[in-house]
This record gives sequence, C-alpha cells and structure tokens, in this order.
Amino acid sequence: MIISGRHNVELREFDQYGVVMPDYFSMDGVPGKVYFRCERQRATLSTEACAASWRRADELNDGQCSACRLCPVGAVHAGEVAASMSPLKGTLTCARCHRTSGRLIGGHRCPSCYNREREVLRGCNAKGTAPVKAGRLDPRRLAYNAGGELRHLRLPISADMDELIVAVLRDSRSRVSFAYNSRPPAAVRQARLW
Ligand SMILES: [Zn+2]
Repeated sequence: MIISGRHNVELREFDQYGVVMPDYFSMDGVPGKVYFRCERQRATLSTEACAASWRRADELNDGQCSACRLCPVGAVHAGEVAASMSPLKGTLTCARCHRTSGRLIGGHRCPSCYNREREVLRGCNAKGTAPVKAGRLDPRRLAYNAGGELRHLRLPISADMDELIVAVLRDSRSRVSFAYNSRPPAAVRQARLW
C-alpha cells in the first residue's frame, strides 16, 4: 500500500479528563483510519491498533509489564476514560507485605505471608512455638469508589487497612478513590457550645 499524504484530523478534545491527546492525521489510501505518533511504542499507530494494544495490556494481571498498561491516551482510545492508572494495577504485589512476588496465593498474598497467616491461625509456627513476629489478623471492610461506583472490599483475614487499599489498587481496572468519614462516632460527638 502506498501512503502518499498526511492530513491533519480534528478529533474530540479529552481535556476534561486531564489527558493530553496527541496530534492526529489520516493517510491517503487508508480511509476511515486515524493515526498518531505513539511515543511509548515509538511508532505511528492507528487509534484502533492503540485501543486493542491497551485492552490487551489492561487485561494482564500476571505482573507482566507493558508500555500500554498505564497509558492514559490508550485508555481514551479504548473508551475507558475512568481507567485506573495505578502503578499497582495488574502487578503481583502482595497486599499484606507490599513486596512483588513470583506468585500470589489466592491472588492476594505472597507465599511467605500465607505461611505466616497459617501459623497465626494455627497458633504455632514450624518450630511448634507461638508465632511472635506475626501480628493479629482481623476481618476488615473498605468502601471505595471505582469508576464512579461505590464498592466494598471485605476480607475475613487482614493485617491492616493498607492491605485492603493495596488490594483494591492492584485489582481494580477502574480508577479508584478512597474517602473516610472524619466525623467522630456518635458516642463522642458533642453539641456546639456557642
Ligand atoms: Zn507478602
């Protein structure tokens, strides 16, 4: 195919999402396709090819790295304006100790944390004595907003609230935000004095 000319193409602005979009152009002999220069792939891509590449990368949750995975331009081309750009997304990060692992048990914690967890639940370690290093493991619940929807993560066993936050950032493909209720509980709330 001979591509003889380039014509600039006006596309929708996506400034409202804070994403700086590239300059687009069409090519003679390729009707209906819009191209741009992708700096991450160091290539000229069609918006379709970019969207497909971003979708493939977004579906990875095995710790593989891809230039496209956290690319906001690719997310817009794929129509996912509320995509997560968290560097934890799709990584094999242990939610409990925050280290990257070769694999996660139950898709959540590294083998080392899993072994500690079993010791805590059994009440003894491999030497037959009570585990001293591991802290308590308790049920916890976290409310968060993912792509505009209120969701909850409930873990029957967790070491701290960070564990839930890391799990949500790692596992959510939509953009996530957290909030907390800063009002004191009713028991300590006081009427205004003046
Ligand atoms: Zn761990």
